[in-house]
Amino acid sequence: MKVLVVGGGPAGSLSAANLSERAEVTLVEAKGASGFPAKCGGLISEDCFEALSRYCRASRALQNRIDGAFFFSPSGRYVELRGKSRAVVVERKALDPMLLQAASKSVDVRMKTRFAGADGGKVRLVEQGEERFERFDLIIGADGPESVVARTYGFERPEIFTGKQYLMEFEPIDERMVELYFGKKYSSGFFAYAIPVEKDVARVGVVSRENTSAHLERLLTSHPSVSERAGRSIYEVNSGPIPIGLVDFVRDGVALVGDSAGMVKPYTGGGMYYLLRAAELLGEHFPDMEGFRKSYLREMGREYSSGERIRRLYDSLDDEDYDFLIEVARDVDFSSLHMDSPSTALKLLPEVLKLVKRPSIAVKIARVMV
Ligand SMILES: Cc1cc2nc3c(=O)[nH]c(=O)nc-3n(C[C@H](O)[C@H](O)[C@H](O)COP(=O)(O)OP(=O)(O)OC[C@H]3O[C@@H](n4cnc5c(N)ncnc54)[C@H](O)[C@@H]3O)c2cc1C
Repeated sequence: MKVLVVGGGPAGSLSAANLSERAEVTLVEAKGASGFPAKCGGLISEDCFEALSRYCRASRALQNRIDGAFFFSPSGRYVELRGKSRAVVVERKALDPMLLQAASKSVDVRMKTRFAGADGGKVRLVEQGEERFERFDLIIGADGPESVVARTYGFERPEIFTGKQYLMEFEPIDERMVELYFGKKYSSGFFAYAIPVEKDVARVGVVSRENTSAHLERLLTSHPSVSERAGRSIYEVNSGPIPIGLVDFVRDGVALVGDSAGMVKPYTGGGMYYLLRAAELLGEHFPDMEGFRKSYLREMGREYSSGERIRRLYDSLDDEDYDFLIEVARDVDFSSLHMDSPSTALKLLPEVLKLVKRPSIAVKIARVMV
């Protein structure tokens, strides 16, 4: 069977690699290189990193190891959280080309080739300005959050948040701890973050439903803790859409993998692990696409709904609620928490609820538990 994979980002490269044993695969990538610009904090779990290491020498993209996170309330108070998962920071500008290179060993990779639509059962490809029509048995849309494949074939679209980050001079509290900043001043519906990359350098960013740039500037200039530690040098600026909400990703002869399908943890915006699992299950089940859909939903469906319920808390909690919850969190045992599994976070909410003595906050937490 002939398969066209659209997109040479991680979702495309991993899908192509996983399909290549069972199909004749062509991968098209619109740009001349994969991984540029790197719209990513690079934070992935160690489990995800190890899984990626089966495809390429991911250690070459390794920048830092992370032991846990500090959760900040808007007033600058924070609590330390160490779960059962450890994390790493990777450089996507190094990782993505390695994944594509690994796929190219068994797949026909065409760079500077854009999927531009479909006509009468054939796809329209534009290769360095030249248009051609080709027929494929299956099309995989791994073309990111603004997927042309999804629009061409009429797939539902996820809600779009925006992420913006600076790679900048920053003095972290601890180089092996990520910092997460909550509160409506710094994000609408999500949170801000600092991911230490190397000594005195971090990716400091915001994910937000709106006004992302303004939130990031406010974080850097007026957050009581961040503003004290942010330096003047900015080495890189990146921003991009973050799709929240898994859509139906399989239909006749077409499937979506990665950001194109909203395969992103709804409570963190991280997409790497969820797209990796999709690519692997796609390869396992091909050509049974219904089997692929069912097994992905069986494995990950609960994680998406748990993640979305936790994300709804970001909308409902007020700044004072966070101050209160940071204190409560000091007495909670987070050791069962895994960053790729929001259901492990949801399971902790009953314990949190027992400690919350304020009815207004208890109601907000109870609402996401049911
Ligand atoms: C600011 C920010 C920070 C993030 N931080 C993290 C993080 O710390 N950890 C994490 O796990 N995730 C993070 N993410 C999310 C993560 O980057 C994405 O989930 C991941 O890149 C999705 O991979 P993908 O292959 O689906 O899409 P992409 O990486 O967007 O790749 C899609 C590819 O398709 C190509 N393409 C597009 N249209 C066409 C076309 N018509 N024809 C041919 N090719 C096409 C593009 O050129 C691109 O190369 C972050 C995202 C943002 C925006």
